Amino acid sequence: MARGRKIYEGKAKILYAGTEPGTLIQYFKDDATAFNNEKKGVITGKGVINNRISEFLMLRLMEIGIPTHFMNRINMREQLVREVEIIPIEIIIRNIAAGSLSKRLGIPEGTQLPRSIVEYCYKSDELGDPLVAEEHITAFGWASPQDIDDMLAMALRVNDFLSGVFMGIGVKLIDFKLEFGRIFDENGEMRIVLADEISPDNCRLWDIATNEKMDKDRFRRDMGHVEEAYQEIARRLGVLPEEAPDGANDGA
Ligand code: UDP
Repeated sequence: MARGRKIYEGKAKILYAGTEPGTLIQYFKDDATAFNNEKKGVITGKGVINNRISEFLMLRLMEIGIPTHFMNRINMREQLVREVEIIPIEIIIRNIAAGSLSKRLGIPEGTQLPRSIVEYCYKSDELGDPLVAEEHITAFGWASPQDIDDMLAMALRVNDFLSGVFMGIGVKLIDFKLEFGRIFDENGEMRIVLADEISPDNCRLWDIATNEKMDKDRFRRDMGHVEEAYQEIARRLGVLPEEAPDGANDGA
Protein backbone atom coordinates (compact mmCIF):
# COMPACT_ATOMS: atom_id res chain seq x y z
CA MET A 1 0.00 0.00 0.00
CA ALA A 2 1.27 3.46 -0.86
CA ARG A 3 2.29 5.43 2.18
CA GLY A 4 1.62 9.11 2.52
CA ARG A 5 4.01 11.60 4.02
CA LYS A 6 5.79 10.97 7.27
CA ILE A 7 3.76 12.49 10.10
CA TYR A 8 5.84 11.56 13.12
CA GLU A 9 8.85 9.45 14.01
CA GLY A 10 8.96 8.01 17.50
CA LYS A 11 11.44 5.74 19.23
CA ALA A 12 9.99 2.44 18.01
CA LYS A 13 7.54 3.44 15.27
CA ILE A 14 7.03 5.83 12.37
CA LEU A 15 3.61 7.20 11.47
CA TYR A 16 2.76 7.96 7.84
CA ALA A 17 -0.42 9.41 6.41
CA GLY A 18 -2.75 6.61 5.30
CA THR A 19 -4.44 6.42 1.90
CA GLU A 20 -7.86 7.40 3.27
CA PRO A 21 -8.39 10.56 5.31
CA GLY A 22 -8.50 9.83 9.02
CA THR A 23 -6.11 6.89 8.72
CA LEU A 24 -2.42 6.46 9.46
CA ILE A 25 0.15 3.78 8.72
CA GLN A 26 2.11 2.61 11.74
CA TYR A 27 5.55 1.33 10.72
CA PHE A 28 7.30 -0.82 13.36
CA LYS A 29 11.07 -0.31 13.62
CA ASP A 30 13.69 -2.57 15.20
CA ASP A 31 15.06 0.38 17.20
CA ALA A 32 14.87 0.12 20.96
CA THR A 33 15.47 2.76 23.60
CA ALA A 34 15.40 2.68 27.37
CA PHE A 35 15.94 4.96 30.34
CA ASN A 36 14.46 7.97 28.59
CA ASN A 37 16.60 7.56 25.46
CA GLU A 38 19.91 7.15 27.31
CA LYS A 39 20.28 3.60 26.03
CA LYS A 40 19.76 2.94 22.35
CA GLY A 41 20.02 -0.21 20.32
CA VAL A 42 18.47 -2.49 17.77
CA ILE A 43 16.53 -5.66 18.47
CA THR A 44 16.68 -7.45 15.14
CA GLY A 45 13.23 -8.45 13.89
CA LYS A 46 11.43 -6.71 16.78
CA GLY A 47 9.33 -4.55 14.46
CA VAL A 48 8.05 -7.56 12.54
CA ILE A 49 7.18 -9.41 15.73
CA ASN A 50 5.60 -6.46 17.57
CA ASN A 51 3.47 -5.72 14.51
CA ARG A 52 2.07 -9.28 14.70
CA ILE A 53 1.71 -9.43 18.48
CA SER A 54 0.00 -6.06 18.65
CA GLU A 55 -2.34 -6.96 15.76
CA PHE A 56 -3.28 -10.20 17.52
CA LEU A 57 -3.91 -8.59 20.91
CA MET A 58 -5.81 -5.58 19.51
CA LEU A 59 -8.08 -7.94 17.51
CA ARG A 60 -8.78 -10.08 20.58
CA LEU A 61 -9.57 -6.93 22.61
CA MET A 62 -11.91 -5.66 19.87
CA GLU A 63 -13.73 -9.01 20.04
CA ILE A 64 -14.58 -8.33 23.69
CA GLY A 65 -15.77 -4.82 22.87
CA ILE A 66 -12.74 -2.65 23.61
CA PRO A 67 -12.59 0.05 20.92
CA THR A 68 -9.10 0.42 19.41
CA HIS A 69 -7.42 2.38 16.62
CA PHE A 70 -6.41 -0.84 14.83
CA MET A 71 -7.84 -1.42 11.32
CA ASN A 72 -5.67 -4.04 9.61
CA ARG A 73 -2.11 -5.24 9.20
CA ILE A 74 -0.74 -4.27 5.79
CA ASN A 75 2.56 -6.18 5.67
CA MET A 76 5.44 -7.39 7.84
CA ARG A 77 6.12 -4.00 9.40
CA GLU A 78 3.06 -1.87 8.78
CA GLN A 79 -0.49 -1.64 10.02
CA LEU A 80 -3.34 0.69 9.11
CA VAL A 81 -4.85 2.51 12.08
CA ARG A 82 -7.46 5.21 12.70
CA GLU A 83 -5.93 8.62 13.22
CA VAL A 84 -6.55 9.70 16.81
CA GLU A 85 -5.69 12.67 18.96
CA ILE A 86 -3.37 11.07 21.47
CA ILE A 87 -4.17 11.83 25.11
CA PRO A 88 -0.79 12.76 26.64
CA ILE A 89 -1.06 10.27 29.48
CA GLU A 90 0.50 6.83 29.79
CA ILE A 91 -1.64 4.48 31.86
CA ILE A 92 0.38 1.85 33.67
CA ILE A 93 -1.33 -1.15 35.24
CA ARG A 94 0.66 -3.30 37.63
CA ASN A 95 -0.13 -6.75 39.00
CA ILE A 96 3.27 -7.64 40.42
CA ALA A 97 5.92 -5.19 41.65
CA ALA A 98 8.74 -4.45 39.18
CA GLY A 99 10.70 -1.64 37.56
CA SER A 100 10.13 1.90 38.74
CA LEU A 101 7.54 0.90 41.38
CA SER A 102 10.04 -1.42 43.07
CA LYS A 103 12.70 1.27 42.96
CA ARG A 104 10.47 4.10 44.14
CA LEU A 105 8.80 2.25 47.00
CA GLY A 106 11.41 -0.35 47.91
CA ILE A 107 9.13 -3.27 47.16
CA PRO A 108 11.15 -6.24 45.85
CA GLU A 109 10.58 -7.19 42.22
CA GLY A 110 8.20 -10.11 41.97
CA THR A 111 6.06 -9.19 45.01
CA GLN A 112 2.39 -9.89 44.29
CA LEU A 113 0.48 -6.61 44.71
CA PRO A 114 -2.61 -6.68 46.96
CA ARG A 115 -4.63 -5.51 43.97
CA SER A 116 -3.93 -4.15 40.51
CA ILE A 117 -2.42 -0.69 40.81
CA VAL A 118 -2.94 2.03 38.21
CA GLU A 119 -0.47 4.84 37.64
CA TYR A 120 -0.54 7.80 35.26
CA CYS A 121 2.51 9.35 33.62
CA TYR A 122 2.57 12.56 31.64
CA LYS A 123 3.90 11.86 28.14
CA SER A 124 6.93 14.10 27.78
CA ASP A 125 10.34 12.91 26.58
CA GLU A 126 11.85 16.17 27.83
CA LEU A 127 10.64 15.50 31.37
CA GLY A 128 11.13 11.72 31.27
CA ASP A 129 7.40 10.84 31.46
CA PRO A 130 6.88 11.91 35.10
CA LEU A 131 4.36 10.17 37.35
CA VAL A 132 1.32 12.41 37.83
CA ALA A 133 -1.92 12.29 39.83
CA GLU A 134 -5.47 12.67 38.51
CA GLU A 135 -5.34 16.18 39.98
CA HIS A 136 -2.60 17.20 37.56
CA ILE A 137 -4.36 15.56 34.61
CA THR A 138 -7.62 17.42 35.16
CA ALA A 139 -6.11 20.70 36.39
CA PHE A 140 -3.89 21.00 33.33
CA GLY A 141 -6.65 19.86 30.97
CA TRP A 142 -4.83 16.80 29.62
CA ALA A 143 -8.01 14.77 30.14
CA SER A 144 -11.38 15.30 31.84
CA PRO A 145 -12.62 13.29 34.85
CA GLN A 146 -14.94 11.45 32.41
CA ASP A 147 -12.01 10.67 30.08
CA ILE A 148 -10.06 9.30 33.05
CA ASP A 149 -13.02 7.13 34.09
CA ASP A 150 -13.34 5.77 30.54
CA MET A 151 -9.62 5.04 30.22
CA LEU A 152 -9.46 3.43 33.64
CA ALA A 153 -12.46 1.17 32.98
CA MET A 154 -10.96 0.06 29.66
CA ALA A 155 -7.49 -0.41 31.13
CA LEU A 156 -8.82 -2.69 33.88
CA ARG A 157 -10.76 -4.78 31.35
CA VAL A 158 -7.64 -4.99 29.19
CA ASN A 159 -5.68 -6.14 32.24
CA ASP A 160 -8.17 -8.89 33.12
CA PHE A 161 -8.37 -10.10 29.55
CA LEU A 162 -4.65 -9.96 28.73
CA SER A 163 -3.74 -11.57 32.06
CA GLY A 164 -5.88 -14.52 30.95
CA VAL A 165 -4.46 -14.62 27.42
CA PHE A 166 -0.90 -14.67 28.74
CA MET A 167 -1.73 -17.15 31.50
CA GLY A 168 -2.97 -19.44 28.73
CA ILE A 169 0.50 -19.44 27.16
CA GLY A 170 2.38 -19.88 30.44
CA VAL A 171 3.27 -16.22 30.91
CA LYS A 172 2.57 -13.81 33.81
CA LEU A 173 1.51 -10.27 32.92
CA ILE A 174 3.52 -8.29 35.48
CA ASP A 175 2.69 -4.78 34.28
CA PHE A 176 2.06 -2.85 31.07
CA LYS A 177 1.52 0.59 29.62
CA LEU A 178 -1.42 1.75 27.50
CA GLU A 179 -2.08 4.89 25.50
CA PHE A 180 -5.48 6.15 24.44
CA GLY A 181 -6.65 8.62 21.81
CA ARG A 182 -9.74 10.59 20.87
CA ILE A 183 -11.76 10.01 17.71
CA PHE A 184 -14.45 12.47 16.60
CA ASP A 185 -17.37 11.19 14.51
CA GLU A 186 -19.40 13.12 11.86
CA ASN A 187 -21.55 14.71 14.57
CA GLY A 188 -18.52 15.88 16.48
CA GLU A 189 -19.10 13.25 19.19
CA MET A 190 -15.88 12.20 20.87
CA ARG A 191 -14.95 8.61 21.66
CA ILE A 192 -11.85 7.33 23.41
CA VAL A 193 -10.10 4.34 21.85
CA LEU A 194 -7.05 2.28 22.74
CA ALA A 195 -4.09 3.36 20.58
CA ASP A 196 -0.33 2.78 20.18
CA GLU A 197 0.72 -0.89 20.47
CA ILE A 198 0.69 -3.79 22.93
CA SER A 199 3.90 -5.81 22.76
CA PRO A 200 6.89 -6.96 24.83
CA ASP A 201 8.17 -3.37 24.40
CA ASN A 202 5.50 -2.10 26.78
CA CYS A 203 4.52 -5.14 28.85
CA ARG A 204 6.53 -7.03 31.44
CA LEU A 205 6.09 -10.73 30.76
CA TRP A 206 7.60 -13.49 32.91
CA ASP A 207 7.53 -17.19 32.21
CA ILE A 208 5.21 -18.81 34.76
CA ALA A 209 7.41 -21.87 35.27
CA THR A 210 10.82 -20.18 35.54
CA ASN A 211 10.11 -16.46 36.16
CA GLU A 212 12.39 -15.77 33.21
CA LYS A 213 11.88 -12.31 31.73
CA MET A 214 10.47 -12.34 28.19
CA ASP A 215 10.26 -8.60 27.45
CA LYS A 216 12.22 -5.39 26.97
CA ASP A 217 13.85 -5.70 30.40
CA ARG A 218 16.25 -8.15 28.69
CA PHE A 219 17.41 -5.19 26.57
CA ARG A 220 17.23 -2.61 29.39
CA ARG A 221 19.32 -4.81 31.68
CA ASP A 222 21.69 -6.34 29.07
CA MET A 223 20.45 -9.85 29.84
CA GLY A 224 20.99 -11.22 26.33
CA HIS A 225 18.63 -13.39 24.25
CA VAL A 226 16.41 -10.38 23.62
CA GLU A 227 15.35 -11.38 20.09
CA GLU A 228 14.64 -14.92 21.27
CA ALA A 229 12.38 -13.68 24.08
CA TYR A 230 10.25 -11.60 21.69
CA GLN A 231 10.11 -14.53 19.27
CA GLU A 232 9.08 -16.92 22.01
CA ILE A 233 6.14 -14.71 23.01
CA ALA A 234 5.06 -14.54 19.36
CA ARG A 235 5.49 -18.29 18.98
CA ARG A 236 3.41 -19.09 22.05
CA LEU A 237 0.68 -16.70 20.89
CA GLY A 238 0.74 -18.52 17.55
CA VAL A 239 1.68 -15.43 15.53
CA LEU A 240 5.33 -16.06 14.69
CA PRO A 241 5.88 -14.96 11.07
CA GLU A 242 6.75 -17.94 8.86
CA GLU A 243 9.95 -16.40 7.57
CA ALA A 244 12.54 -15.80 10.27
CA PRO A 245 12.34 -12.06 10.97
CA ASP A 246 15.84 -11.06 9.91
CA GLY A 247 15.04 -7.37 9.78
CA ALA A 248 15.63 -7.25 6.05
CA ASN A 249 12.06 -7.85 5.06
CA ASP A 250 10.40 -4.47 5.14
CA GLY A 251 7.98 -5.02 2.33
CA ALA A 252 4.69 -6.80 1.80
N1 UDP B 1 6.50 1.44 30.03
C1 UDP B 1 6.46 1.79 28.70
N2 UDP B 1 6.91 3.03 28.32
C2 UDP B 1 7.40 3.93 29.21
C3 UDP B 1 7.45 3.56 30.56
C4 UDP B 1 7.00 2.32 30.95
O1 UDP B 1 6.00 1.02 27.87
O2 UDP B 1 7.77 5.04 28.79
C5 UDP B 1 6.01 0.12 30.45
C6 UDP B 1 7.16 -0.80 30.85
O3 UDP B 1 7.55 -1.61 29.76
C7 UDP B 1 6.53 -1.64 31.93
C8 UDP B 1 5.47 -0.71 32.55
O4 UDP B 1 5.22 0.29 31.59
O5 UDP B 1 5.84 -2.75 31.37
C9 UDP B 1 5.92 -0.10 33.86
O6 UDP B 1 7.16 0.53 33.67
P1 UDP B 1 7.96 1.21 34.86
O7 UDP B 1 7.18 2.38 35.37
O8 UDP B 1 8.32 0.17 35.85
O9 UDP B 1 9.21 1.86 34.21
P2 UDP B 1 10.59 1.27 33.71
O10 UDP B 1 11.13 0.44 34.80
O11 UDP B 1 10.22 0.52 32.48
O12 UDP B 1 11.36 2.52 33.42
